[in-house]
Amino acid sequence: MSRVYNFSAGPAVLPEEVLREAAAEMLDYNGTGMSVMEMSHRSKAFEEIIQTAEADIRELMNIPDNYKVLFLQGGASQQFAMIPMNLMKNGVADFIVTGQWAKKAYQEAQKFGKANKIASSEDRTFSYIPDCSDLPISEDADYVYICENNTIYGTKYKELPNTKGKTLVADVSSCFLSEPVDVTKYGIIYGGVQKNVGPAGVVIVIIREDLITDDVMPGTPTMLKYKTHADAKSLYNTPPAYGIYICGKVFKWLKKQGGLAAMKERNEKKAKLLYDFLDQSKLFKGTVEKKDRSLMNVPFVTGDADLDAKFVKEAKEAGLENLKGHRTVGGMRASIYNAMPYEGVEALVAFMKKFEEENL
Ligand SMILES: *Cc1c(COP(=O)(O)O)cnc(C)c1O
Repeated sequence: MSRVYNFSAGPAVLPEEVLREAAAEMLDYNGTGMSVMEMSHRSKAFEEIIQTAEADIRELMNIPDNYKVLFLQGGASQQFAMIPMNLMKNGVADFIVTGQWAKKAYQEAQKFGKANKIASSEDRTFSYIPDCSDLPISEDADYVYICENNTIYGTKYKELPNTKGKTLVADVSSCFLSEPVDVTKYGIIYGGVQKNVGPAGVVIVIIREDLITDDVMPGTPTMLKYKTHADAKSLYNTPPAYGIYICGKVFKWLKKQGGLAAMKERNEKKAKLLYDFLDQSKLFKGTVEKKDRSLMNVPFVTGDADLDAKFVKEAKEAGLENLKGHRTVGGMRASIYNAMPYEGVEALVAFMKKFEEENL
């Protein structure tokens, strides 16, 4: 068996320790004589898995008691509809469009009410985060929506927007659990877990209790009502049980690493190694404004599409996989999530140096 350094944007690298544990428990979970994949979601064993997972993410993120943690399906993309269906009481929401995912959420919300684009960075290919200190927030906005880390473009809000008292809703798919957050600043924080937490198939929604009501858009399907899942503690129907089990293991792993403050420190150290190299390189360059750089997704280019392709190919041969940039952007992108070890980034930088010497 040999493992590569996997720089995929998602589904992405998971802690090796977690995969080994899951492998050891594959045929017999904790003396039950069956895999977690095979057990009833109403069983005692699974009840303990989901309750422990919730308790651990609450501890990691310091989630206050007046927030619910929901383990749902449908990916982050389903939230693009679920959020307006549940939250648009006035039928109005404000969007800050900083990339494709925010744009998709904005477009989807238009089906359900008035979605206002109050700021955007599309004028420069989403390579920065707009100044959000004094935006024209709509008087009757039910919420202000952001995508906090832009997976495709590699930007991240270093400061949350001034929502002028309106509820903030954030897609944190690609920065989930990468650093401490102040949950009280948000109405909803949500993310698909396949970027930084677990296997595809689970989306975690952390939602303030007052936003969970029966007063949803007429016609909202039962499954798309937060209240359905909150009342049933994420067990209204069969949840993505195996995925939740792996997420739970990742939460334990994060606690063992020292929690989110320790992860932030590690993530900063990893990102610095790569960004410092990019900043002095004569061949490669980063594509986003320095102050808005993501710790998780690092896009870069040589400026020559053929050379980019050669780099991606030779990197793969050297055991550095999935470095091709998003199909809409081109170039390269290294996703260096929580589970990417420092040694992986060192190996990448060493390979980039060698490639630069050979191709400059
Ligand atoms: C990947 C991604 C999505 C889409 O996630 P799905 O689970 O595939 O729907 C949405 N938002 C962000 C920020 C992402 O990185």
